[in-house]
Parts: sequence; structure tokens; C-alpha cells
Amino acid sequence: MGSGSCQAHAPRVFDLDDECRAVVIDPAGDPHRAIRNAAEGCPTRAIEIEESGG
Ligand code: SF4
Repeated sequence: MGSGSCQAHAPRVFDLDDECRAVVIDPAGDPHRAIRNAAEGCPTRAIEIEESGG
């Protein structure tokens, strides 16, 4: 969809490619809360967060 909302919330984690598709550039690039806000703010619910163990 390419709304870019995820990039606004977590700009070090998400970027938009040439076709305005969201891509993850660094899964740990922004604070957890920012990533969660990106997921909650995604209009298509396309972002799924997987917690790593440890
Ligand atoms: S992942 Fe969601 S918030 Fe990010 S560009 Fe796609 S639709 Fe928009």
C-alpha cells in the first residue's frame, strides 16, 4: 500500500522501496515502542512483530 506510516513511526527500521513497498532495513533500529506504534498504525495490518527469545 505504501502509506509510509511505518516509516514515520520507525524510520530506522522501515524504508520504502522504489515501488513504495515497505521494507525492513534494520529490525532493531528503533525502540520497541516505536516499532509497536508502526505495527498498530499500519492501515493494512501488514506488520507482524515477532519477539526474539533471550
Ligand atoms: S507496512 Fe503498513 S504502514 Fe508501512 S507502508 Fe505498508 S501499509 Fe503503510
